[in-house]
Amino acid sequence: MTPFPLPPGSTIGILGGGQLGRMLALAAARLGFDVAILTPEADSPAGRVAAHVIVAEYEEPGALKTLADLCQVITFEFENVPAGAVLELQRLGAEVAPNPRALAVAQDRLEEKTFLNQAGIPTVGFVPIDSEAELRAAFRRFGPPLLLKTRRGGYDGKGQIWVEKADDSAGALAALGQLPAIAETPADFRREVAIIAARGRDGEIALYPLTESHHENGILRRTTAPAAGPPRPHAEAERIAATLLTALNYVGVLGLELFERDDGRLLVNEFAPRVHNTGHWTLDGCGVDQFEQHIRAVAGWPLGPTAATHHVEMTNLLGEEALTWANLAREPETRVWLYGKRDHLPGRKMGHVNRLSALDSPRR
Ligand code: AMP
Repeated sequence: MTPFPLPPGSTIGILGGGQLGRMLALAAARLGFDVAILTPEADSPAGRVAAHVIVAEYEEPGALKTLADLCQVITFEFENVPAGAVLELQRLGAEVAPNPRALAVAQDRLEEKTFLNQAGIPTVGFVPIDSEAELRAAFRRFGPPLLLKTRRGGYDGKGQIWVEKADDSAGALAALGQLPAIAETPADFRREVAIIAARGRDGEIALYPLTESHHENGILRRTTAPAAGPPRPHAEAERIAATLLTALNYVGVLGLELFERDDGRLLVNEFAPRVHNTGHWTLDGCGVDQFEQHIRAVAGWPLGPTAATHHVEMTNLLGEEALTWANLAREPETRVWLYGKRDHLPGRKMGHVNRLSALDSPRR
């Protein structure tokens, strides 16, 4: 049994080698931990700042054994880690957080929305779709339009398509590769908001302020934090986040994306069982950021303060936008975060900037 709280000098394992793993590793290092990264990618963003790197497929038995032997606790930085890898780590006696159930629920949109509704958390209407007949039946039940999404593997707006009428059903299913899917009703939102939530090993909950998300082409472009507006959606989002963390018996940080309707009511779109892009503002806008918070939670440390210290506008640097780093570095109230990725491919998340302003000043 791993003794908690983990003392500095312990090793924390992370499945995944992307930018989230990189920022987790940096936060862990600041608290005196070593990090071991398991990733299939040689020369990964996280691997280059970690004490140990294992380059292997996630389900490679030898790699999992090495990781389990090396680490006192193991976590993950993206939600498409094969569930089998996490279960194997547990079988090897490793301590894994968040728990594999949370990962499994988040990996499948049908299970996710079903779980949320069972916990009393509202979502858009949805039905599972495995055939053209089922999609046509969904049109009869809900009316047009419907948003068809693959149950698994979608991200950044990929794996989903609006279907305007029942006669487009066959084409839409073909466009998504005939994969198991769900059909969703339109959310009719006035804005998209998000909340980063954390739960410690002792059940303590810490919630960051609600933020506003701006997407372009399905990718998060900007986050403004804290979100402007009346307190009601903030309180409602906090209630939802706390309910979800408890229902999942969760340990770590979780990102929750929501739709805000015209009347202020919130619907959950989805949650990610990990640190999240909508929480990058916390790196410069809060006492303890989401990455340190996650490390604290999985290591059994007390959670840190989450109140905003600044207004932040977080903007993702996509593709060649990251090449403007020299100009960005000249802006005194701008904090630059670059992920060390080699190729500036179009749309790829290369870094982000946090533009700060005083909490009591008008928003940019
Ligand atoms: P997702 O991959 O589920 O996060 O969806 C990506 C984006 O598509 C969301 O951030 C929304 O902008 C939009 N979206 C997703 N689901 C719905 C829905 N049911 N109604 C309207 N827009 C949606």
